Amino acid sequence: MADIIQLLPDHVANQIAAGEVVQRPASVVKELLENAIDAGADTIKLIIKDAGKTLIQVIDNGKGMSQTDARLSFERHATSKIRSAEDLFQLHTKGFRGEALASIAAIAHVELKTKQPQDDVGHTIVIEGSTVTSQDIVVTPQGTSVSVKNLFFNIPARRNFLKSDAVELRHVIDEFHRVALAHPSIGFMLYNNGSESFNLPVSNYRQRIVNIFGNKTNEKLVPVDEDTEVLKISGFVGKPEFAKKTRGEQYFFVNDRFIKSAYLNHAISSAFEGLLKNGTHASYFLNLTVDPQTIDINIHPTKTEIKFDDEHTLYALLRSAVKHSLGQFNIAPVLDFERNPNLDTPYSYKGNNTDIPKVEVDKAFNPFQDEAKPVSKPSSTYKKENTSSWESLYVGLESKGNTSQQDFTELHFESEEQNISIFDDDNQVEKANTTYQLHNKYIISAIKSGMLVIDQHRAHQRVLYEDFLRNLTIKEAASQQLLFPLQLHFSIQDIVIINQLKADLEHTGFVFSNIDDTSLDITGVPVGVPESEVSIILEQLISDVENEVPESNFSATDLLAKSMAKSLAIKTGQSLQKDEQEHLLNKLFACKEPNVSPTNRTAFITMSVDELDRKFI
Ligand code: ADP
Ligand code: MG
Repeated sequence: MADIIQLLPDHVANQIAAGEVVQRPASVVKELLENAIDAGADTIKLIIKDAGKTLIQVIDNGKGMSQTDARLSFERHATSKIRSAEDLFQLHTKGFRGEALASIAAIAHVELKTKQPQDDVGHTIVIEGSTVTSQDIVVTPQGTSVSVKNLFFNIPARRNFLKSDAVELRHVIDEFHRVALAHPSIGFMLYNNGSESFNLPVSNYRQRIVNIFGNKTNEKLVPVDEDTEVLKISGFVGKPEFAKKTRGEQYFFVNDRFIKSAYLNHAISSAFEGLLKNGTHASYFLNLTVDPQTIDINIHPTKTEIKFDDEHTLYALLRSAVKHSLGQFNIAPVLDFERNPNLDTPYSYKGNNTDIPKVEVDKAFNPFQDEAKPVSKPSSTYKKENTSSWESLYVGLESKGNTSQQDFTELHFESEEQNISIFDDDNQVEKANTTYQLHNKYIISAIKSGMLVIDQHRAHQRVLYEDFLRNLTIKEAASQQLLFPLQLHFSIQDIVIINQLKADLEHTGFVFSNIDDTSLDITGVPVGVPESEVSIILEQLISDVENEVPESNFSATDLLAKSMAKSLAIKTGQSLQKDEQEHLLNKLFACKEPNVSPTNRTAFITMSVDELDRKFI
């Protein structure tokens, strides 16, 4: 039989290799920034268009390349940074694999301009899909500029796989932060679609962090410094009281290279043990310096994972260094350990001094009544609530008389079929007020056919979600004026997200008096939202927006409603009074889709007497 094995043509091999190195625009950003650093630049500009899908350009003032090197740099395994395998363990550069430029040139249109300091003119090369289309002499400043256009132009499947501009931009900015944080002695600029997003001057480490994450970060930082034979640690951890619900600000750098390590992250978490509120994460910006001989960087194509010779020792040293700093800066006694965090719920029917919510239960209102009464329609005795109480959020249940509410009555008529089909005639609640709370988690109620078990957290999320959606649609939610404006601080990119959602947030009842680059002033919040929870709600929202994988049905309104419902819903573990239980039950079955939470989790189940009987056989 004839021989069948062939060597792949270079451009195909390069495309395959590119798959490992270049996953998205942010990967190109990382490689180009690293090359600029390796070239000894002290000023590096990153220019992005359409989140890098149209253009990624990095301009440095480093040492440049000769004409031959410029051409060779696009060859695979062509590098000036190592000569032998032993050099891998003496690395002082970011790059060493010699495949970034070759990979990028295989899947994009690349234009390189470069000039060495001693030369009068520079050189330019244009490469499209691994083919050199032009090579010339140019007048260009000292250093190198690499423009990468039309990423994945020849791999449509990869291009389609890219996420929305907002998500890709987020990755690009993350990458930019990582590189900029590792090199405070280099000035970095980022221009996005023609406007300057970051201008980070040469500075010390603390200033670099503050320049990226905003002025307020300064007071949150606790220095960590430890110098041992095997490891030098320097940097900062965030004070526990500023811990966030998101994992965003967690950075390890090993020998000036950003790395991910779940194991070392655990060392930090354990140093913070007992100091953090449930569900929050400490921030940290830590530089570890180790002997390059004791690590292997070449275990992952993107070089973000590292193998350490002695991970256990690093773990112990890191943990004790962070603990030591927290102790030294008197961080320990900030939390009240007596408090039961489960009761620490943002949403409560009780104990809210500024605005004590009234629970109004319509004992006569029974969503499963025999009469062909619309399930979600208020019964005649259901009182129209005072609009200044949080109950006004439930506008859909108010009595008729105003046109916008009419619409919602209609809205509920739509749901009528749905509810009735879920609960046929046999399944009616026997008595609306026979509820019982189980393990501070479920609300049990008897229905004619058997019993109903409601998950209180999911059910309340559903109720709040539909309310917020309604408010967002009618755009006239009630707002609760704050006595003093609340000033909150965020990073620049978080503020970008808040600005995007500003109009929608206002429709839920938020009032912003001022928003600048890193802070915002809030003068009004949705009725019923405790002031103390506002920053948590916004943080949760930002993290939800960041993590949202946009699909065709992506909607900011929907996301906002879901996120706020999640933040404010009664938590599992919260004990509810009888009337609160009943109220929740009634509210749930007044919803359009009572059977699932906003994230499609079952909100209640039923169990018939038959099923119960069978269990007793
Ligand atoms: P690596 O960085 O792993 O060596 P790359 O493909 O990223 O591989 O780059 C190949 C070579 O091109 C580098 O080793 C370096 O010599 C040269 N090079 C790339 N970018 C620059 C730059 N911005 N300035 C100077 N030289 C560069
Ligand atoms: Mg490189």
